Amino acid sequence: MNNFIEIFEQYNWDEVKARIYSKTNEDVERALNASKRTVEDFMALVSPAAAAYLEPMAQLSQQITQKRFGKVVQMYIPLYLSNECNNICTYCGFSLDNKVKRRTLTPMEIMQEAAAIKEMGYDHVLLVTGEANQTVHVDYFKKALELLKPHFSHISMEVQPMDEEDYRELIPYGLNTVLVYQETYHKDDYRKHHPKGKKSNFNYRIETPDRLGRAGIHKMGLGVLIGLEDWRTDSFFTALHLNYLEKTYWKSKYSLSFPRLRPFSGGLEPKVEMSDRELVQLICAYRIFDEEVEISLSTRESEKFRNNVIKLGITSISAGSKTNPGGYVVEPESLEQFEISDDRSPEQIAEVIKQQGYEAVWKDWDRVLY
Ligand code: SF4
Repeated sequence: MNNFIEIFEQYNWDEVKARIYSKTNEDVERALNASKRTVEDFMALVSPAAAAYLEPMAQLSQQITQKRFGKVVQMYIPLYLSNECNNICTYCGFSLDNKVKRRTLTPMEIMQEAAAIKEMGYDHVLLVTGEANQTVHVDYFKKALELLKPHFSHISMEVQPMDEEDYRELIPYGLNTVLVYQETYHKDDYRKHHPKGKKSNFNYRIETPDRLGRAGIHKMGLGVLIGLEDWRTDSFFTALHLNYLEKTYWKSKYSLSFPRLRPFSGGLEPKVEMSDRELVQLICAYRIFDEEVEISLSTRESEKFRNNVIKLGITSISAGSKTNPGGYVVEPESLEQFEISDDRSPEQIAEVIKQQGYEAVWKDWDRVLY
C-alpha cells in the first residue's frame, strides 16, 4: 500500500468501535503479556475492560519509557506566528467566523518573540499558524525558518497541510518536525466540524503524513482532538496510522499528543468527555503498544494532571506557553487559540520534573548531532 487512506478505507468506524467495546479481561491480559503487540492488542488496551488494569498498565508504561528514553523530558514551547485563518473549525478560537482582530507577525516581531523564548531557556520551538495562504505561505515559512534556525536546535511546525514539494523546500531551511493532527477519523463528523475552507478536505489531511514521509521529514506528530468523537475509536485509528507510517517511512521519527478540547472565545462543548483516568489509560496504551513513539503533553492539561503523568510515558512537555501571536512580548493581549490550563513558568515545571527524579532537557541533542 502506498497511502494510508487505502488501509483506512478497509475499516468501518462502527465495527471498530463495537470491537473495542467488546474486549474482555482476557484480551487485556493477553495484550499486556504479549512480547510484540498488534493493533488488535491496542484495541484491548483502550477498551473499557482495561480500566481495571490501570495500575499494571502504568507500571509497564513507566518501565518501557525509562528503558527506551531514560529519565529525561524534553522542553518545548509554541511560538504563534499568526491567527489569520480561512477555515471554519467549530472548536477553534481562530475560526474564520469568529470576528476578532487578526495579526501575522512581521520578521522583526518574530525575532522579538524568539528573544523572549530564548530568555526562558528554550532551544526547541514549535511554530503555529492558522491557514491563510495569502499571508502565511511557503515563502513566509522560509523567512521565519531562516530567521530562527541560527537560534534554535530544533524547529517544529503546526500549520496548514502542504504539498510534498513544499515540505521538500522547507526542510533545508531548518524544518525538523511537522505536527498534523487529524482532529477526528470519523469522516462524517470531520465534515461537520470543518464546514468551510481547505481543511474540509478530509482526504488531503489524512494523506499529509504520507507526503511528509515521502519528503523525508525528520519527525512527524499525529493525534486527534479529544472531545469530538469517541476517543477510543479515534485513538485506534491514530495507532493504525502510526503503525503504517513507522513501517513505510522508517527513517522518520514519530510523536503523539492528545489535546482535549479546551474553552475558547465562542467555544464548542465536547461531544464526548474524557476523564483524567481515561487519559492516563490512553497514554499508557500508546506507550505499551509502541516503545519508540515520543509522547508530548501540552499546557492544555491541568497542573495536577501534568505532575502526575510525567513518569508514565511522557517524553516532551511545554511550559510558559502563550497561544496568541505576539503573546510573549509583542501583543500579549491578542486573541488566544484556547485557554491554557497550566500556567506555571518553565522553571517551575523543570523543578517538578527534577523532584520526580527526572531531568528537564532544553536542547535536542539527537537533532544537533544529526
Ligand atoms: S484549527 Fe487551525 S485551521 Fe481550524 S480555525 Fe483553528 S487555526 Fe484555523
